[in-house]
Amino acid sequence: MIRQFELLEMIRAYDPDVDEDLINRAYVFAMRVHGTQKRASGDPYFSHPLEVAGILTRMKLDAATIVTALLHDTVEDTLATLKEIEKHFGPEVARLVDGVTKLSRLELQSDHTREAENFRKFLLAMSEDIRVLLVKLADRLHNMRTLHHIEDAEKRRRIASETTEIYAPLAERIGLRDFKDELEDLAFAEINPEARNSVLARLEFLREQGADAAERIIAGLEKALKDAGIRAEITGREKRPYSIWLKMQRKRVPFEQLSDIMAFRVVVEDRAHCYQALGVLHGSYPVVPGRFKDYMSTPKRNGYRSLHTCVIGPGRNRIEIQIRTREMHEVAERGVAAHWAYKQSEEATRDGRKYGWLRELLQILEQAAGPEEFLEHTKLEMFQDQVFCFTPRGDLISLPRGATPVDFAYAVHSDIGDTCVGAKINGRIMPLKTQLENGDQVEIITSKAQSPSPTWEGFVVTGKARAAIRKFIRSRQMQEYVYLGRAILEKAFNEVGYEYSDKALKGVLKIFRQETPEDLIAAVGSGVITARQILVAVFPGLKDEFEAGTIGKVVTLAAVRKERDKDKGNAVPIKGLTPGMAVHYANCCHPLMGDRIVGIVTPGKGVTIHTIDCDTLESFSDMPERWLDVSWEVERADNQVGRINVTVINEPGALSALASVIAKNLGNILNLKITHRAADFFDMAIDVEVQNVKHLSNIIAALRATPAINSVERARG
Ligand code: MN
Repeated sequence: MIRQFELLEMIRAYDPDVDEDLINRAYVFAMRVHGTQKRASGDPYFSHPLEVAGILTRMKLDAATIVTALLHDTVEDTLATLKEIEKHFGPEVARLVDGVTKLSRLELQSDHTREAENFRKFLLAMSEDIRVLLVKLADRLHNMRTLHHIEDAEKRRRIASETTEIYAPLAERIGLRDFKDELEDLAFAEINPEARNSVLARLEFLREQGADAAERIIAGLEKALKDAGIRAEITGREKRPYSIWLKMQRKRVPFEQLSDIMAFRVVVEDRAHCYQALGVLHGSYPVVPGRFKDYMSTPKRNGYRSLHTCVIGPGRNRIEIQIRTREMHEVAERGVAAHWAYKQSEEATRDGRKYGWLRELLQILEQAAGPEEFLEHTKLEMFQDQVFCFTPRGDLISLPRGATPVDFAYAVHSDIGDTCVGAKINGRIMPLKTQLENGDQVEIITSKAQSPSPTWEGFVVTGKARAAIRKFIRSRQMQEYVYLGRAILEKAFNEVGYEYSDKALKGVLKIFRQETPEDLIAAVGSGVITARQILVAVFPGLKDEFEAGTIGKVVTLAAVRKERDKDKGNAVPIKGLTPGMAVHYANCCHPLMGDRIVGIVTPGKGVTIHTIDCDTLESFSDMPERWLDVSWEVERADNQVGRINVTVINEPGALSALASVIAKNLGNILNLKITHRAADFFDMAIDVEVQNVKHLSNIIAALRATPAINSVERARG
């Protein structure tokens, strides 16, 4: 536990004039009111506010914030009142403590009430004074560090996911990178310990493989810069397990080499040296294209500045490099706080605005001007009821949450909605029923030959889209009636020995009060008027014959329908197909239930189902008219078989590691075939019984993290 004088020393190190008496009184007050309360760990409760205060001293925060940290749980958890706090510590501290208390109450509510309105209040409270948020984040950080002491697993999990979803993004938003990383990693350890352990094991393995690689790389970079006369401090940093895991999931790549786990940082004296160092490195090593980013000329919203690049560095290693000045480095590590600490050293003492950066930070948060910044905010607002998407031109389209590309298309223009056949979301072709997310760029693929599909009605959420689809279905229904009506009339006319033509109806329109032959035919198709009525009207002589029974039954609507529907039965569990269409599953990508899929129509052959990320689709990209938006009918309850190709290192225990990872993840190996055998590696094809594609992806990710396994791919052709 931090002792009173230790805390004071920590503050005095950056603020020699701190009001010691104030800090001491807060220390004693909090210790007294928390009394004998204990934490889940068995520690005295008071150790918690102390640790929180300690975390905040590292950010060099003012006395009011440190005092608030010491007092932050007193109103909620002890007999102390806000009035007392105000009496002893003044209105500023009281206001801050009140702010933190309110935030804490928000967490206590159930998942349900935590939604929209409360979360907005949360943000509101946050913007009242940024220090409230800083105390709250430090509070959460300490609670996460001690999370394992909580016995209730459900509660641990809830706290951890709340941390990932709300607090880590908030920390990132204000540039507290350290906070964000640590919060995410602690939450990861709780939510998915097995994945984290796998990543850690793999890290360990790679570290052993390239034990001295990092040093050699640093030495190589140092020499290159030194030869050019640039003084630089170069460090290698291992990426966090959570960010490695995210990358594995997002890009579906294994991490194979050091470059996947290490990033190198070059810290130089000033801005000019940053660009010089970049020039030297680009001149000395081959540059990996497309990876250079200049966050110096255009800093990130949270104040982050750096040059990022990737080169084939010493030892032929692909390495990521960040170049920045010392100040930029501090900001990147400690957030905007550091930036203003730098600034204030010269000016703040002058105008007395010692903690001016707090106000500045607040302004940054308040003045979110452009749509991009706005999105930065809304990214946090996970419970918001809106999504904001962009057209390829950059126009912002706002839609209700749950909206799909079809809603988007209709929001842009009803013609685009009516002729929409597919959508690219962030450059990838995705099913039309995909729910859009904040910041998605959506490009609608249209085809004049296309028309709205009735299945869309099942997933659109905007009134505009729904109305347009309904209108279309009504007119489609009309066509259907005309089609049926004509078929009925043709048969009926045939049976009495005449050939049918629409012209025959012209003379009898008035009798049936219809405007056009089409209308009359549709009336027959819908069953309002019978074929017999028409026949009798057209050939009055037939009336007697009908009555005398010399003419047999005239074909009925029901009979024609029945015939038409005979081949409608569709055993394929896919929605969006025209009944009776032949369906094939593509051999290139083996779609599984749960995969996102798309149909490609081949005239005369039917439709072939591909997974949405199948490479074969490229060749159809300029033929949107052949794309068919399809989806799986139901999540089938029974299991399916997915095939994976695995390359295993030929060493003792490798196969059993493979089998146990699959078993641990509840997969069942149905078939295993060695497809290629070499001295050092085996290639194998394995059929695994899984519940759905997500299950298979989990197994693949777990296998990739297994040291004995070199590579894992879903079988594709
Ligand atoms: Mn607390």
